[in-house]
Amino acid sequence: MVEKRSFEIARETLKQLTARKLVPTPANYQSVYNEIAGIPSIQPFPADFLRDLAQSLPLKTPGQQKQKGLLDYAIDRLSWDGVKSALVGYGAFAPVVAPEESVVSHAAAPVPEASVVQASALTNEFFAQIARLIEYAQPALGNDDARFVDQTHQLVQALRKPDADALTVKTMLVNYSHRLSFAAEDQAEIRNGLLKLLHLVFTNISELSLDEQWLKGQMDALMSVSTPPLSLRRLDELERLLSDVIFKQKDAKYKALEAQDEMRRMLAMFIERLAQMNQSTGTFQSKLEESARLIEQAKSLADIAPVLKEVVGTTRNMAQESQLSREQLGAMQERAKQTEAELAKLHKELDRVSLQARHDALTGALNRKGLDEALNREVSTVRRNASVLSVALLDIDNFKKLNDTLGHATGDIALAHLATVAKECMRPQDTLARYGGEEFVILLPDTPLDKGIEAMTRLQRELTKRFFLSGTEKVLITFSAGVAQVTDEEQPGDAIRRADQAMYLAKRAGKNRVLGA
Ligand code: GH3
Ligand code: MG
Ligand code: MG
Repeated sequence: MVEKRSFEIARETLKQLTARKLVPTPANYQSVYNEIAGIPSIQPFPADFLRDLAQSLPLKTPGQQKQKGLLDYAIDRLSWDGVKSALVGYGAFAPVVAPEESVVSHAAAPVPEASVVQASALTNEFFAQIARLIEYAQPALGNDDARFVDQTHQLVQALRKPDADALTVKTMLVNYSHRLSFAAEDQAEIRNGLLKLLHLVFTNISELSLDEQWLKGQMDALMSVSTPPLSLRRLDELERLLSDVIFKQKDAKYKALEAQDEMRRMLAMFIERLAQMNQSTGTFQSKLEESARLIEQAKSLADIAPVLKEVVGTTRNMAQESQLSREQLGAMQERAKQTEAELAKLHKELDRVSLQARHDALTGALNRKGLDEALNREVSTVRRNASVLSVALLDIDNFKKLNDTLGHATGDIALAHLATVAKECMRPQDTLARYGGEEFVILLPDTPLDKGIEAMTRLQRELTKRFFLSGTEKVLITFSAGVAQVTDEEQPGDAIRRADQAMYLAKRAGKNRVLGA
């Protein structure tokens, strides 16, 4: 029966399609069929149509692109709600109209309402940006000045008001920037003051530790690193240097205290032992005197026998005690030797710890360990930012001769002199390291090969202008250098090897020159 009814409904549907002159598409057929059968008509989800629509939407702003993504997603999920909210969102991200395009700027023309709305949205967005800018800058200005903090807060609130009045905001902004200039100056002064203080602390520590050569080298390096201008890179170096020094100081102090304690314990034992010896010698003495007296008074051998026995006993005791004292003193002597050896070991240990440090005590430049770390850091920064890094290796010319003629101490001064001139010549982001005896490596970030060669040539020229004195004699040093630009494929160490080869060629070509690898 049901089948029959369906058949009738189908026939009636076809009749109606013809009568209403409807195109017999599956959608129309379905709609008329549902109408006749009394089935509620559910509109199919027009996914294809909506996709077409989504495809033709202009995507001029990131907001519009995001909403288009949400629209695609809603269409895939057949979600009307999603489509609705994506389209509403899309509308809110209409691109900003430039003033000359905007009808608002044409005074003669009547101002359509939509344009006014757009202009006010633009002002609001602009004010919101300023509010954000002020909020981002606030932490850098500190919050010592409560009135300034208050003023900032009020300004941000005013900027965020939906109906913010441009004139009021302007007045507030003028007041704010006036006060801001003071706050910024204050912060700069505070920073400089802190730096000076830090420098003073280092100078003091360095004065106190004049006798500790290993510590002094580190302190000198600290002082030079804490000189303005500061950068994050230099702060980082400062922090590492400081932890090196603290670590070494702690270690040395702990061990020195231990050795001191041991010495104190031994001294106490010596004194105690001496007192005992005195005492037993005294007892022995009085016992002998007593025995001598008894012997004098003795009338028979029988009287003497017990006295003799006493004397022999006392003497034996004395001998035993002396023996004991000798043994104990021997043991103490042995311990003193050990403590001395431990102190010597402590000094060696300090030297070893110095090796673990990242800075070379003589020149204040990074040592090999420091260089390895810095090089790895620079190479990963370069690869992350797709920038370039060059490395230079320089070797002082005829340094052995300088040592031989003017002495090793002057050689040391020459090394420190080169490091000082190089540091002054380099940019703050460059890194100087002592690679070996009289060889230095310089890391030059953001520097292609030709600029690296130029930088080394500049340093060469600077060195020829600046001599140092050995007694009354002016000493000039020159160097030969090789420069290599680190390639994407090679290990950082390979670039240094290439620079080394170029340096070697510079030596062969007559020294005092710079060659690229
Ligand atoms: P070239 O121009 O070919 O480089 O010759 P050079 O004499 O500079 O090089 P060479 O390698 O023959 O000699 C380097 C000398 O550097 C030998 C070594 O005694 C000296 N040296 C290494 N480290 C130090 C140091 O810390 N202080 C001093 N004063 N001399 C050092
Ligand atoms: Mg050499
Ligand atoms: Mg040399």
